[in-house]
Formats: sequence, structure tokens, C-alpha cells
Amino acid sequence: MTSYFNPLLPISKKLLTNTTICLSLFSSISVAQKAKTAVRTPNIVIILADDIGFGDFGCYGAKRVKTPNIDNLALRGVQFSNACSPASTSTPSRYSLLTGEFAWRKNVGILPGDAGITIKPGTLTMPSMLQQQGYITGCVGKWHLGLGLGNVDFNKEVKPSPNDIGFNYSFILPATGDRVPCVYLENSRVVGLDPNDPIEVSYTHKVGNEPTGKDHPELLRMKLSEGHDKTIVNGISRIGYMSGGKSAWWKDEDLAEVITKKAVDFIKNNAKKPFFLYFATHDIHVPRVPSARFRGSSQCGVRGDVIQQFDWSVGEILSTLKSLNLEENTIVIVTSDNGPIIDDGYADGAVENLNGHLAAGILRGFKYGLYEGGTRVPFIISWPKTIKPGKSDVPFPFIDLFASFADLTHYQLQGNEAMDSQDGISTLLGKNHKPYKDYVLIQNNNGGLAVKKGDWKLIPIESKATKKDELYNLKEDISETKNMADQEKERVESLRKIMIDIKANQKK
Ligand code: CA
Repeated sequence: MTSYFNPLLPISKKLLTNTTICLSLFSSISVAQKAKTAVRTPNIVIILADDIGFGDFGCYGAKRVKTPNIDNLALRGVQFSNACSPASTSTPSRYSLLTGEFAWRKNVGILPGDAGITIKPGTLTMPSMLQQQGYITGCVGKWHLGLGLGNVDFNKEVKPSPNDIGFNYSFILPATGDRVPCVYLENSRVVGLDPNDPIEVSYTHKVGNEPTGKDHPELLRMKLSEGHDKTIVNGISRIGYMSGGKSAWWKDEDLAEVITKKAVDFIKNNAKKPFFLYFATHDIHVPRVPSARFRGSSQCGVRGDVIQQFDWSVGEILSTLKSLNLEENTIVIVTSDNGPIIDDGYADGAVENLNGHLAAGILRGFKYGLYEGGTRVPFIISWPKTIKPGKSDVPFPFIDLFASFADLTHYQLQGNEAMDSQDGISTLLGKNHKPYKDYVLIQNNNGGLAVKKGDWKLIPIESKATKKDELYNLKEDISETKNMADQEKERVESLRKIMIDIKANQKK
């Protein structure tokens, strides 16, 4: 009987379907237990940064960037030193987070800005699962998981969109800050679009008469270092061509403020219900254009400035929760979709002004790669009502958030639902201090894999990320400097077998 009576359990559809159990349950509970039923299931807020590295926050060792809001959150929650994103680039990482499925199974990599939606309506997603458990769900910020059926007409309602795969509310950048179209979509429609000035987007040929970065570099306020030479929007040239829809074009320097306000509004509008907010900031992806208040604010150039801007966004969310008296019973997670990159295609001074800042800390590698710098990311979770503050070095791949929240909210995953996500809720809540998984799998953008088991990590030649097998003992050599593959041939083969088995086995 007790398994049905959990004060954290929302009155879900599943529970309501079993009227007999409910009636007998409610007739037998004590007054004290009745009081407990008033306790609400926790709100869940995931704040997903873009391209922030393991060494980018003060609480992870950064000295030239100040992140007081994040550092304070770490003091109130659990700070992980061995958490990782599922992939070393955005799209596959986000796909895995929201579906609980490895992105390589569906060949999902970085998408063009006009790609069709990668998560098919009807798929159980983290938000649609939480919807079934009584949550109101919101998606604010960068999407980059495709929209519609591809080649979207942005003058019409865009379907499928986040609203069709589990989100009650969405306010998004369709792809990334450096890709067209440079407009916001709110609940599947472009915000502020003038129907007399229709918007046109192409990734294959020039549309309209807007100047491009390639033909008119003199018009750019931010020069290119690589790519990004198509339509100029707000003085910055992008990937892809776009024309029309000028009243809807975003201003890069306002972006953090606009989406943070939308995230705050979502919380305020849903304060009376359990809510799930997926707040995927644009910071600190390129183009890095901080607002006036953060420009020049850090000691390591524009990249540091936008990290501090990200910290401000986190602070706005936290202060909103506090002001609404929701702080105690809200799970807040701050992490990043993949590791850092310093020069990502714009000559914005990030490289020249690093000033000794180590974006990936002592880790080797960056975004795009399979070394630890590509996927080991900051990860902080806070839930004052339940989680005791502390630190954890237990491996926690955040693809496991899906199954962990399923457990927390008493959703029974079935069949291939969230097939690659494993329940790590005890670890997440700081109650378990031992590894709960046999292995951790990570991927790069092309679906190349690396596997970690115990102290060891294999980047196999099949990943195409290396010219020969690379094996590292992360306990002794976290910076991956000594390739032990030749000395540990049996271990290499046993780790290789894990990957072969996972690929062969379509079920967890
Ligand atoms: Ca990213």
C-alpha cells in the first residue's frame, strides 16, 4: 500500500485510473497523512548552458570569471565532478537529454537551421512524461532539434514544434544564434512578424537582397574566423540566407534578457501547479554579444562576459523562485550541453583575451571531441527541501535524468521508452556515493563513440576520432596524456565489446 502513497506523487492519470485503490487509500489514511497529501511534487527547472566548459564557473576553479549565483547554488546543492553530457555537440546532446535515447541510434548530429524535427510526435519525451504526471511544461531558449517537416514556411504556424512533443509552452530560437532565421518563435509562431513582409529562409541559395558577410565584410561589426559568411543580420553574418520579416529579427545583445524574462514569466504564470521548465540559454554559443551591462565585465574577454551574463540568468531564475516561495520544493539543475570552444567561427577576441582562463580546466579537448573536455561538464543540482549540500564524484551522464525523473514522479517506463536512460535518482539526490552504472557512453557529432568503465576510458579507432585505439586511466591521468592501449590490450578489447554489445542491443 505504501508504494501508492507518496507525498511527492502527483495525482497522475495512472493513479486516477485505479479508483478502487484510491478510495481504499483515502478512507484509511490518518489525519497526519492527509496533511502530507498537501505536499506538492517538486517543480523541475533544467538550466542548460551552451558550450560552457568544466572550468568556466567559479565553483569549478575559474578565477577570471565571476559566477556568484551558480557558486551559491552549488553550496546549497550537490556539485558533481564527474557528470557528462551525452555528446560533445548541441543537437545530439539535447536530443538524448529530452528522449533518453542515444542520438547516434538515429544519426542525429548538428542540424541545418531548416531541418525537420528530430523528435517525432508521439515519442515519449521527458516533458511529455512529466505532463502525464501532472506537470505544466515549458521550453524557453535554444531549440536546434529541427522544426516542422523541414524547409519550414516561417510565415505560418510551424508544426511539429516543441508544443507537439510535450511542451505546453515554448519560446525558442529555432536553431542557434549563428543560424538563420534570426527570429523567436512563441508557441509555434514567429513573434512580431509583419504579414506584409514575409520571411524567407534558405540554406542552399541566396534569397532576397540582404548583404552577405562574404560579399560585404565591411558591413560586419564582428569579423569571421571561419564560415558564417551568409546573410548579415544585426551586423553579424550567419550560416544560411534569410530575407524579409525584419520586424521580427532579434537583437543579439538583447537575447539573454528576452529569454530570461520569458523563463521567469513561465514560472510566475505556473506557480500554482507543478511545472517543468527546460531553459536552454543561448549563452555562451557564438556569436557572443553580451548586453551593455556585461560587455567588458569579466577579466577574460567576451567569452567571460557571456559566462557572467549566463550567471545573471541563473540568478534571475533563482530569485524568482525565492520571491514566489517556491525555492524549497524546486529542483534546479545547472549544466551545459557540451564542452567549451574558444574560437567557433567569429573573430570576437575570445582567444586573444583568455588571460590564462582554462575553459575546460585541466581536461584535454574541447567541444566536438571525445576527450574529457568535450563532454565532462559542470553539473549542479539543488532541491533544498530534500538534497543535503555536498559534492559528488559519482559518474553521472545526464542522459540519465529522464529515467531518474520517471522514478521520482513514479512513471513506469516501458519497452523502449527512454531506452538508454538509467535511473540514477539516488546519486542525483546525493544519497548514493558509489557508481550505479557499468559504463558511460559518450559520442561526438558524427556518432563516434567512447566508453568509460571504472577508472578507464577507451576512444577506439572505430570512432574515427583517433588514428589508433586510445586508452586512458582517468583516475591517474584525468588529462588523458598517456595512451595505455598497447600495455592493456585485454582491457581495450573488453571495453570495445561493451560498445559492440550496446550497438547490437536495441534495448537497455
Ligand atoms: Ca552546444
